[in-house]
Amino acid sequence: MYTKIKELERRSYFMDDCIFCKIIAGEIPSIPVYEDEAVKAFLDISQGTPGHTLLVPKKHIADIFAYDEQLAKTVFSRLPKIARAIKASNPAIKGMNIINNNGKIAYQSVFHSHIHLIPRYSENDDFKMIFKDNSEKYSTEQLQQIAQTIKNHLED
Ligand code: 5GP
Ligand code: ZN
Repeated sequence: MYTKIKELERRSYFMDDCIFCKIIAGEIPSIPVYEDEAVKAFLDISQGTPGHTLLVPKKHIADIFAYDEQLAKTVFSRLPKIARAIKASNPAIKGMNIINNNGKIAYQSVFHSHIHLIPRYSENDDFKMIFKDNSEKYSTEQLQQIAQTIKNHLED
């Protein structure tokens, strides 16, 4: 009985066939840089740039849309400490992109929420991001309408 309850608890925390749940459970190896009761940070296998790290909640959660405020506090509050440690680890690191992809369209490929910490070394390192400037296509009224629609959907 006790074992069964524990197994049910385990399943609501970990998700079978999730690569990051397996890493958190120690079933597949990773190279950790930080761990506490709620989160784990480990080197991204792709090493987009040297030191590229992933911060993940230990509880299986698919993406930002499923976070509650408490989980957000828990996970995002760890970022500055880990970011500073990565930066301090190599004097060649000049900056850092912190990225959280949500949904396949937004380049999420592992559906256990995670935050990328990508150290930046130079304009010519292996990381690029493109933001197109579409500001000329919008009137102030159109921007206000977009903002109002978003505000109408804010939860308490
Ligand atoms: P996403 O594309 O979902 O934003 O990021 C997923 C990241 O997980 C990718 O950068 C990928 O390199 C990394 N990744 C996938 N499988 C593994 C793994 O088994 N170990 C580690 N350390 N990283 C992984
Ligand atoms: Zn998972």
